[in-house]
Parts: sequence; C-alpha cells; structure tokens
Amino acid sequence: MGVPISQMWTVARYVLTQKIRGNRRYPLVLMLEPLFRCNLACAGCGKIQYPPHILKMHLTPEQCFKAAEECGAPMVSIPGGEPLLHPNIQEIVEGLVARRKYIYLCTNARLLLEKIDLFKPSKYLTFSVHMDGQREHHDFSVCREGTYDTAVAGIREAVKRGFRVTTNTTLFDGADPRSVRAFFDEMMELGVEGMMLSPGYSYDKAPDQQHFLGRAKTRKLFSTILSNREKKWRFNQSPLFLEFLMGRRSYACTPWGMPTYNIFGWQKPCYLLQDGYAETFQELLAATDWKNYGTESGNPKCANCMVHSGYEASAVDHTFSSVGGLLAAAKATLFGGNYANQAALDALSEPPPPHPAKFVQLQVSASAPRQRDEVSV
Ligand code: SF4
Repeated sequence: MGVPISQMWTVARYVLTQKIRGNRRYPLVLMLEPLFRCNLACAGCGKIQYPPHILKMHLTPEQCFKAAEECGAPMVSIPGGEPLLHPNIQEIVEGLVARRKYIYLCTNARLLLEKIDLFKPSKYLTFSVHMDGQREHHDFSVCREGTYDTAVAGIREAVKRGFRVTTNTTLFDGADPRSVRAFFDEMMELGVEGMMLSPGYSYDKAPDQQHFLGRAKTRKLFSTILSNREKKWRFNQSPLFLEFLMGRRSYACTPWGMPTYNIFGWQKPCYLLQDGYAETFQELLAATDWKNYGTESGNPKCANCMVHSGYEASAVDHTFSSVGGLLAAAKATLFGGNYANQAALDALSEPPPPHPAKFVQLQVSASAPRQRDEVSV
C-alpha cells in the first residue's frame, strides 16, 4: 500500500464532508509554488523560463500559510522551481505541519543531503523526489549528467533517517516501457514509500515541444508499463487515476481539484494553464469560466491533457461518489490488481524507441539564474 492509512482516512473524511455539504467544486491538493527558480533547467519544464527578476522572487511563509488556510485542502504539494532553494523552506514546512497538512515537498534532491538537517521526520512530510527513469533517461530528461546518482544518495539518506520518501515521474513520448519497469524495481529496492506517475504536458514555454504525448499514445504507453504489474510496485496515488492513464476509465477534468498559488496569485484555471490570476481562492472558484476547460470543452490547450493535476482529483471524487468507485478503489488498493494483458506483454517485446542523440539545447538568456550559487535571494 503506497499511502498510509492515516492520510487515506483524512482524505476520505474530507471528501465525504464536501459531498455531504453539497460542495461540487472543492480542492483536494493545494499546489503551492513558493518560487520558480531552480538549480536544473529541464527541457520539458514550463516554469523556469521566466525573466531573472521573476525567478528571484518568492512567497513569504505568511503568504504560504494564508493560501493553505484559504483553500482548506488536506494536502499541499510544494513544487517550484526547486523548493529547497527557498530561504524560508524550513519555516514553511514547519508551519504547514503544525496546520496538519500532508505535504509533498517536490525536489530534484540536488540539495537534499545539504538541507536534510533542516527537517524532522513526520507523517505529514514527504520528500517527493523527481526521478524520470533509470540513470541515462533521468539525466537526459533533466539535461544534466550525475543528477540520478545525486538523487539516489539523497533518497537513501532520507529513508535511513525515517522520512517519508516518494518519487514523481513524468513520462514523455519515446519512453522505453521496459526501462520504466526496471526503474520501478530500482525505486522499490531503495525503499521509497510509493511512486507517482504522470504524462508530460506540452507547456507553451517548454523548450522541447516534440516529445509530449497525445492521448492515444499516453494510454498505450501506460497500459504497456502498468499491465502485468509486479506485486512489489507501490504507487502513491489513486489506483483509479492509474487505470485512467491505462485507458481503462475515462474522466472529465476537475481543474479546481488541485488549485495553484504562486507569486502572481491563484492561477486560472489550473496548474498548467495561465489564463489570469485571482486574488483569493473564492475569487478563483467564482470568476473562472470552468466550462472552457477540460478535454470535452474543445479547448485545444486541453485536448491531449491527462495530467494528474487535472485528473487525479476526478478519480478521487469518483471513488467517493458511488459504490462502484469505492469498490474499484478498494479492490485495487487492498488486493493490488495484476492487470494481466497479453497485448501489453507483447508490446514489451517490441524494440525500444530510439534514444535521442543529444540533450535539448535550451533557449535561455545568459543572465538567467541557473545554479544555486548564481542566485541572489
Ligand atoms: S485538461 Fe489539463 S490543461 Fe485543461 S484545465 Fe484540465 S488540467 Fe488544465
């Protein structure tokens, strides 16, 4: 089981309360982006292309706490940028733990060994380490050699000290299913609590626009990877969302399920798109024209999206909306389906996709901050 019972119970109680109150639109996870700057420059990233004066800005701890209280979601994911670069990250984490929020601190782990003494193990704190596959694939994906080994060292130390550690993996077109499955084995051997997966989203700002997955390719890739599943693999996300990625279920997007707060305010409508900002969470809910978003809306920006920030909340909502959803989630969680599938097994025997020959060249200004020691806070 990839998610502890106490967290599952907190989320279940929260969602059922929303249902009883008749709240159709409720947040499940606050995506709190305290800064955009990073010590990596991944080709698929849509966050680090801001000009230097924006990359130097960050939210204060008080702004982070106000956002968490305003929104009320039981879970807070802290992506970025690289949150370990934030000068007040210890205070932010401690404040959110004191508010009993289940925090996923998303990090590339390049600074984890250096900063780990800032944190105390807690059931509320999880280091969610960005790992996009085995060594060669991960280093290629983040455009920097040695990053996989650094992250593994950070994971080992965090696990040894009793922290909750998960991995988060974004898969792009050209991912090799056999290698991804071998990567799952590696992560389980490291002792991580569970893994999180998502297909990449084609950010307008991302330098590499060629390797994002369309919906049909996404379903085929995830079905090949997640069918005929090894019992030892644990995933730290809704099993119904994984079935959605495999093409076994269809969901409409719930962009309000994982609202995003950053230095510009509450981002409309979701973590991926930037159609303006609201000053308060209530304004975000009231002033966003939600019918313009999601695959069914006809919005071309949503056409190929199957990303967790839009669809995982849909899967969780389904779990608590019907007996069928509850039974399906309970079956997958408690008994762990193998998802036997001969076509997927055959696909594993196909030759692996050709590996791109070189790193994507990033079009960034020479003055843009890239390394931690180049950033003045
Ligand atoms: S489909 Fe994707 S891009 Fe569109 S609103 Fe939902 S999460 Fe955002």
